[in-house]
Amino acid sequence: MNKHARPEVVVSKCLGFEACRWNGETVHEPFVELLGSWVRWHPVCPEVAIGLGVPRDPIRVVEQKGLPRLLQPATGRDCTRDMQDFCAEHLDALGLVDGFLLKNRSPSCGPLDVKIYSSLKPGASSRRGPGFFGGEVMRRFPMLAVEHEGRLHNFMLRERWLTRLFTLADFRRMAGKDSMGELVKFHSRHKLLLMAYNQQQLRIMGALVANPEKRAAPEVIAVYGDHLGKALARSPSAGQVINVLMHAEGYFKKQLNAAEKALFLETLDKYRAKKLPLSVAQALLGSWIARFGSDYLAGQSFFAPYPEELMEISDSGKGRDY
Ligand code: SF4
Repeated sequence: MNKHARPEVVVSKCLGFEACRWNGETVHEPFVELLGSWVRWHPVCPEVAIGLGVPRDPIRVVEQKGLPRLLQPATGRDCTRDMQDFCAEHLDALGLVDGFLLKNRSPSCGPLDVKIYSSLKPGASSRRGPGFFGGEVMRRFPMLAVEHEGRLHNFMLRERWLTRLFTLADFRRMAGKDSMGELVKFHSRHKLLLMAYNQQQLRIMGALVANPEKRAAPEVIAVYGDHLGKALARSPSAGQVINVLMHAEGYFKKQLNAAEKALFLETLDKYRAKKLPLSVAQALLGSWIARFGSDYLAGQSFFAPYPEELMEISDSGKGRDY
């Protein structure tokens, strides 16, 4: 694949960029440090931005009359309006970005796992939901790569986020050229990846690229981008991934001997049974691409959707979930 495009990523500032947490601390995340060489960060701390100092008394989301409020119990301050205004201004002014990496459980940044209390009373019950900034991000940018750092400890979720992030960054880079020729090349190099993710969207995108009505490139690219977001919205199943692997293996059916074909099928069975990671099957195919040659397969993002240096298989979560 071409050199990977550098994704633009909005990140919670306390994830190693500044000691801006309520207690004056920062959060050390080795993966964020590793990623720093490959993405362009846009750090933001919504709580500091609305004038809450460091250190500060904690704030929490409290549901009142069916609506979430952002309250600071120790001072009685209601930060709801200030935070809503900040979210609107900051996100309205945001340039083109490919994704967000947000602090989990924060009443401001958390995208989905924030405690929402039923009242300010000690011991009040709570449920989980979005924080103010994280929730607004999820509402406005459903097609972008949005995650919180807690989920990225899981290898498979991290791989999914990185795949989406770098594919969207490649699309943004291509879209800036306003060229149908560039769109054709983009579609071609991501074809197997899109085949694994969503065949229905792939067909629609293929028809757009053919452009029989000769529409202007910016118009076609904009519509294509909407479908790309839809195609990447849901992760592929193991079955969909295996279909693509078998499709790729078909390029070498005349060159491979019976033992090699049997080894490949065995590898796919183990992948399906979650006994081997996808990278083993990809490596087998990679060795055949190198040996027999195939410019088309060699250029497919499916085999390297993001920089190899980011492919750490350490995992604090459990197993594969696709
Ligand atoms: S979670 Fe968000 S609001 Fe809280 S300290 Fe980190 S960046 Fe600031």
